[in-house]
Amino acid sequence: MSAVKKLGLEGRIVCLHSSMKSFGCRFEGGASAVIRAFTDSGCTLIVPSFSYRFTVRPPENMRPAQNGYDYENMLPESGIDGAYTPETDEISAEYMGQVPLEAVKTKGRARGNHPVCSFAGVGPLAAEIIGTQSSTDVFAPLRAIADKGGYAVMMGTGLATMTALHLAEQMAGRNMFIRWAKSPDGGIIECECGGCSEGFGNFEPVVSGMERRGGAGKSVWRAFPLAEFLEEASAAIRKNPAITHCRRVFEGNKPCMLCEDAVKGGCVRRVE
Ligand SMILES: [Zn+2]
Repeated sequence: MSAVKKLGLEGRIVCLHSSMKSFGCRFEGGASAVIRAFTDSGCTLIVPSFSYRFTVRPPENMRPAQNGYDYENMLPESGIDGAYTPETDEISAEYMGQVPLEAVKTKGRARGNHPVCSFAGVGPLAAEIIGTQSSTDVFAPLRAIADKGGYAVMMGTGLATMTALHLAEQMAGRNMFIRWAKSPDGGIIECECGGCSEGFGNFEPVVSGMERRGGAGKSVWRAFPLAEFLEEASAAIRKNPAITHCRRVFEGNKPCMLCEDAVKGGCVRRVE
């Protein structure tokens, strides 16, 4: 696919957010052809491969404050009775899109050691980049991509899918939220997760000047140099913390709890 070449992404590390629907009609070869377009160009392709069904309810002694979580009205258990391992193909198919679904099934792929918000990767540097992730350092792969001069690419999606903006929040001084999952030894572990991203379209004026634009068919592709993107976005959050707020209103005229707590600085950690 010449779109990868035209955007100057050959041989680069790319974190991809994609919508196969953006191609307008059935895309020949589907998600696996998209993956091959990058790997055939020497790229290392990294995608979010989140798996929310591994979350469990928080034990009484693991409930930090300002955590974007309503401890009074907890949702039902999400369904997987077991521990996540990087070998699993389980993924939240309804949220993640076709390319991550295909990526976790790709032979030789790497997948991060985070039960809820893993990244998966294929290509020459995938194991190295993905190997940085842990349950308490959810966005380490994105930092590694930025350090190596990599890109974040949106293929027909908006900034509301841009996971790197959660890393920008962390860089601006916010704590990530804590969620919970079973560990392989049967206990429960805490894992850091990003919050609400519905308001991330607010970053358009901050980041649109640094993008390269291209595409394939009807699908518009936007490539952002990740280090510069993170620097500008985190500076914008320091200057105006409310920029991340989605302003959605929920039952009882309540604002978005995730965004309220994020703007206040995120989860308040226990003092050990
Ligand atoms: Zn929100």
